[in-house]
Amino acid sequence: AAKADGRGRWAFFEQSMEEQVRTRENLAHALRRAIDTESLHVLYQPQTTIDGRTVLSVEALLRWTDPDMGAISPSVFVPIAEETGLINDLGLYVLRQACTDARAWPHLGLAVNVSPTQFRHPRFIDDLRETLEQAGFDPARLEIEVTETVFATSSPEVMETLTRVQEMGVRVALDDFGVGYSSLSYLRRFPFDTLKIDRSFIADLEIGAHAHSILSTIIDLGEALGMKVVAEGIETAHQVAILQRTNCDKLQGFFMSRPVPPEQIRGVEDRLAAAQPDAATGPALTI
Ligand code: C2E
Ligand code: MG
Ligand code: MG
Ligand code: MG
Repeated sequence: AAKADGRGRWAFFEQSMEEQVRTRENLAHALRRAIDTESLHVLYQPQTTIDGRTVLSVEALLRWTDPDMGAISPSVFVPIAEETGLINDLGLYVLRQACTDARAWPHLGLAVNVSPTQFRHPRFIDDLRETLEQAGFDPARLEIEVTETVFATSSPEVMETLTRVQEMGVRVALDDFGVGYSSLSYLRRFPFDTLKIDRSFIADLEIGAHAHSILSTIIDLGEALGMKVVAEGIETAHQVAILQRTNCDKLQGFFMSRPVPPEQIRGVEDRLAAAQPDAATGPALTI
C-alpha cells in the first residue's frame, strides 16, 4: 500500500510540474502576443509631498489583461518575462508608453521600474537614450527604479551602467529598500539618488514596537547620504501623520491614490489639493 501511495504521489507531483510548465509557457506565449498587439496598459500612481496634498511625480505600473485569462498581476508576469527573455521588450514598451503619457504632465516627474535583467542588458543604455530622444522627453524628469537584486552580481558593468544612466541626467532609485539581504552594503557602494522604503516598514507602524525608530532611522540614513527618501504603501491618515514628523521627502500609497489611468491624473491632483488638511492628517494630532 505504501508503494502505491508513493507512486500515486509521484504521479500527482509529475502532473502538477508539467501543468506548471504548461501554464508558464501559455503565459509567456500570451504575453508575447500582448506585447506585439500592444494590449498592455500602464497605470500611474502619484508620489506626493509629505502632507499628501501635492503630486510631485508618478510611478508607471504595468497592467496586463488577457482576453481569456483576465487580469494578471505584474508580480506574476514580470518574473515570467524575466525568465523567457521578454523583459527587454516589455520594459521598453513601458518606457515608451510612460514617456508619451507623461507629456501631458510636464510639471511632474516620472518613475519607471527597470527589472534586473533589463538593467544588465548590454543595449539598455542605448535603448534608454533612444527612447528618450524619440519621445522628446527631458531626462531630468525621469527616474528609474531598480531593486537590489541588480547589484547582487558585483560586476563592474553594473556600476558602469548606473554611472551612465546618471550621466544622461536620469536619476536612479533603489526600490523596496530594507527587505533584501544586503541593502545596507549596496547603499554604501552605489550612489543612488533616491531610496524607496519598502512598504512592510510602513505596515509595521501599526504593530511593531520599534517600527517608529527603525523607520525614522532609515529615513535619516538616506537623508545623511544625500538621497531623496520615498515611503511606499501609505494606506492610512495615521501613517501620513507619522511620516510628516520625519525627514521623508515623498509619500506614495493607496491613501493618496491607487494607480490610475493617465487621463485621471489631473483629477487626482485636484482632489488631493482640495482635501482638508485635517482629513489628511486626521488622528495625527493625537499621537
Ligand atoms: P513596486 O515597483 O514596488 O511597485 C509598488 C507596488 O505596490 C505596486 O504594485 C502598487 O500598486 C503597490 N502599492 C502602491 N501603494 C500601495 C499601498 O498603499 N498598499 C499596498 N498594499 N500596495 C500598494 P503592482 O502594480 O502590483 O506592482 C508590483 C510590482 O511589479 C512592482 O513593485 C514592480 O516590482 C513590478 N512592476 C510593476 N510594473 C512594472 C514594470 O513596468 N516593469 C517592471 N520591471 N516591473 C514592474
Ligand atoms: Mg517601483
Ligand atoms: Mg517598491
Ligand atoms: Mg528631505
